[in-house]
Amino acid sequence: MNQYIIANWKANQNRQQTYEFIRQFLALTATSPLPQDLQLVVCPPAVFYLEFVGKSLPLAAGLQDISVFAGGAYTGELTAQNLTGIEPAFVIVGHSERRREFGETNELIVRKCEQVWSLGATPIVCFDEPEAASLSQLLQVHAGKSMILAYEPVSAISTSGSAGNLDPQALNQQLVGFRQLFPGMPIIYGGSVKPENAGSYAGICDGLLVGSASLKAESFVGIARNFAHQ
Ligand code: PEP
Repeated sequence: MNQYIIANWKANQNRQQTYEFIRQFLALTATSPLPQDLQLVVCPPAVFYLEFVGKSLPLAAGLQDISVFAGGAYTGELTAQNLTGIEPAFVIVGHSERRREFGETNELIVRKCEQVWSLGATPIVCFDEPEAASLSQLLQVHAGKSMILAYEPVSAISTSGSAGNLDPQALNQQLVGFRQLFPGMPIIYGGSVKPENAGSYAGICDGLLVGSASLKAESFVGIARNFAHQ
């Protein structure tokens, strides 16, 4: 199974910083390629998505959200209709910030997954422990469809919690239950991952979702290399 290192830039970065990230990322990976079985994904703000396309970068670009509506009179939404022909490979749904700030529920998040699948893309479905059981039930009718589950304890996220990164052994124990709830699905971890701690999650989960430390190419590539080389 592939492993994933996924950058969630959230609403950070401007155009110049996006160019600079791409320039540095290319320089860092030109002479020392990344492992083949590690899929890197950058999910920038949607307005910068196309900056990542057609540049022969050893990564995929994704999006951070999608409308629950397929298209039409929904001012400000980014819909599957808009994304036809753009073809993102991955779309994050259900991040804790969207659950907290925009009241998103598991029901709505699964409807967003349906929009992602309609594009032939893979949803990266974020959840914390209290949401896991109901999410698993709602996803049962979609068994066999492509998805990545991202376990993100809110207390561990650098901008919303104060607990710091989850201890890898504690993650290992949590994953026993999550693997029963989401059989056969890749489960990645997110929460205060940095180059210094990324290696401690290798062999435990199927990859990492990275917020703050993904904004600079050097630390994003450092996380990928340290996760791969343990
Ligand atoms: C996140 O918000 O998804 C996240 C993992 O953030 P950070 O890496 O900054 O904790």
